[in-house]
Amino acid sequence: MRLSRSRPFRSPHHSSTVAGMIGGGANPEPGEVTLAHHGVLFLDEVGEFRRTVLDVLRQPLEDGRVSLVRYGYSITYPARCQLILAANPCPCGFLGSSSKDCLCTSGELASYRRRLSGPLLDRIDLQVWMDRIQAHEYHSSAEPSMKVRERVMRAWEHLKALDADQEVIEESRGAKDVLSRAVEKFQLSARAAVRIRRVARTIAVLAGSKEIEAHHLAEALTYRLSL
Ligand SMILES: [Zn+2]
Repeated sequence: MRLSRSRPFRSPHHSSTVAGMIGGGANPEPGEVTLAHHGVLFLDEVGEFRRTVLDVLRQPLEDGRVSLVRYGYSITYPARCQLILAANPCPCGFLGSSSKDCLCTSGELASYRRRLSGPLLDRIDLQVWMDRIQAHEYHSSAEPSMKVRERVMRAWEHLKALDADQEVIEESRGAKDVLSRAVEKFQLSARAAVRIRRVARTIAVLAGSKEIEAHHLAEALTYRLSL
């Protein structure tokens, strides 16, 4: 395998096979999830990927590695990547758009949702609805990546300082209440609750806070569209 000093960005086509995604073959080779190790695995138009190909991503996402069994021996590849999925809101692409009406039937919408939902989506921590970009917005000045980078680096420093002082970011009483109410109302799995708490912790760290407050937890909940 080629060694690189920059973080990988892999964007496999939606016709990818299971072996192409997680590795395999008669002479086993690493798949996309391993080639994206310590980088980004980006699946565009995720609804077009075969369900079986998406399903095999679940284990590497949990474990950060892929284990393949071949003729009685097993091979393990590293697979710790950031998974980013993009999908249209509906088959015609205009559901919820402010510029055009969606023309999909309710049957089409239901079958499209079924394809996107399920165990893989349950493992996606941040789910954000984006409207179509208008022509004039292409030229508007969004926050530059360097600024975002500075904010992330500050959060890293903050975390390192907390670690050095052996401090742990605890949840406030209010945050605990928000989470337990959400668990009850949306019947959240233990996995979902853990992930929401983790996102809330990141939000708290980015804000320079020493504890997870109720509004950090509430914001984390808004990133689960599948609730
Ligand atoms: Zn539509």
